[in-house]
Amino acid sequence: MFAGKSEELVRRVRRARLAHRGVVVVNHALDVRAGGGRVASHSGLEVPSATVAGAGEIPGLVEPGTELVAIDEAQFFGPELVPVAVALADAGLVVVVAGLSVTFDGSPFEPLPALMAVAERVDKLTAVCMVCGRDAAYHVRVARGVALDGGADAAAPVAAHVGGAESYEARCRAHRG
Ligand SMILES: [Zn+2]
Repeated sequence: MFAGKSEELVRRVRRARLAHRGVVVVNHALDVRAGGGRVASHSGLEVPSATVAGAGEIPGLVEPGTELVAIDEAQFFGPELVPVAVALADAGLVVVVAGLSVTFDGSPFEPLPALMAVAERVDKLTAVCMVCGRDAAYHVRVARGVALDGGADAAAPVAAHVGGAESYEARCRAHRG
């Protein structure tokens, strides 16, 4: 999280549109951050998107002239996204997928690992550790105000989910536990 994945997806979509390529942008109905109907980056860039309830709806969005299918927050789609993305790529489309590859407890988060295995190209973006500033490949759930070492403003990982996206922090390998 906080690695600029949606930002990179939006950047590629905008470049493709500037090149007059047919583009379909897809997000999942469970992704409600931007209010639906668009993919937005943290820095404010956004593009319109088709909101679907499952990967099975994606092929139906492809029209004659579609050259690129961009799928954001792919972790919401689950493993059923893999055969759909492969079929689109096999049909000659460029498929750009952005999503989380690890869960908050550091485990592989399908379908991203499976998609990374069959992709021609993988760009692994990392955030910045909120503790030390190193590259952060992980994210943890945190509770504000929970004392970690006596400080009232310290943030500590907790087992329970306590809020929205603001309750996650990017962390490096040393600070993810
Ligand atoms: Zn760190």
